[in-house]
Amino acid sequence: MKSNQLKIKKSGIINNIDLFLFLLKKTIPYLTIYKIINLFKLFISKIFYIKLNTKPYFILTDTINTCNLDCKMCFTKQIHFKEKIVYSYDIEFFEDFLKKNNKTLIFIMFGCLWEPSLNKDIYKMLELCNKYKVLAFLTTNLVNCDINKLVKTQTPYIQVSISAGDKEIYKKIHGKDYFIKVQKNLADLAYIINNQKLSIYIHVKSVLQKDNENLKTIKKLRLFLKKIKINKFSLKKFQSVRNLNDNLEILPKNTNFFDKTNGIDKFSIHKKTRNYSMKYVGPDKKTSKNEALYLIESSE
Ligand code: SF4
Repeated sequence: MKSNQLKIKKSGIINNIDLFLFLLKKTIPYLTIYKIINLFKLFISKIFYIKLNTKPYFILTDTINTCNLDCKMCFTKQIHFKEKIVYSYDIEFFEDFLKKNNKTLIFIMFGCLWEPSLNKDIYKMLELCNKYKVLAFLTTNLVNCDINKLVKTQTPYIQVSISAGDKEIYKKIHGKDYFIKVQKNLADLAYIINNQKLSIYIHVKSVLQKDNENLKTIKKLRLFLKKIKINKFSLKKFQSVRNLNDNLEILPKNTNFFDKTNGIDKFSIHKKTRNYSMKYVGPDKKTSKNEALYLIESSE
């Protein structure tokens, strides 16, 4: 067990300081006095558990409530959503939202529970973030992405979720046969960024689970990422949204490889104060907002 822990630590190609400094450098030009005051008030309200008139600086958003993969560890699978209708919001809704919130908004993360690139306007939305001076982060499985269009948006931080380094385990974990496609997309993305010296940070994340816990496939992935010069690779412990016993089929045997608390316990911490620093915006108010409450408390 000890040796596995060591391997996990070594698997990061660049440490977190690198990412922190990168984001700090990107954030500073976007900060206005108004945003700084709001951040300060949020900080005070969190420390002293008091209510101040603040607004979230960080938005998590699902542009659509569907995905093109079928991953074993997906939160949406664990939650067992009953809603089958696919909703997405349009570019007008998004621009209106940015106009109303950009005074205090600093970051927006596309992709919370679902795959954001499946929204037909995703590239326009990422570009709009530049116009309204909000830093966009994209988390994606990269299956559906048009790499040239994505690069043009200059999205500063792209997080790619892949939990295997070969075709067989990829299919086992992600439920579809897209390993070669994703590998090519990732290599193309890294090539353009490195070749054109673009200021875009690529972070690949893998989730530890039963099918990859011997780390063989993870080592292959890591070697590939090093070869194509990805900024950062990290391993995430398996997290159960509900009871751990509901996930015995996916749960790694190694107890260091999963989070012993469940997601609901973790996020209920936000209930301590009514001043939320984060907010969730879903594709449809009636359905997805309730679904998202399992994960993040909304400020509304
Ligand atoms: S890519 Fe993400 S949203 Fe899609 S099935 Fe996998 S874990 Fe779920």
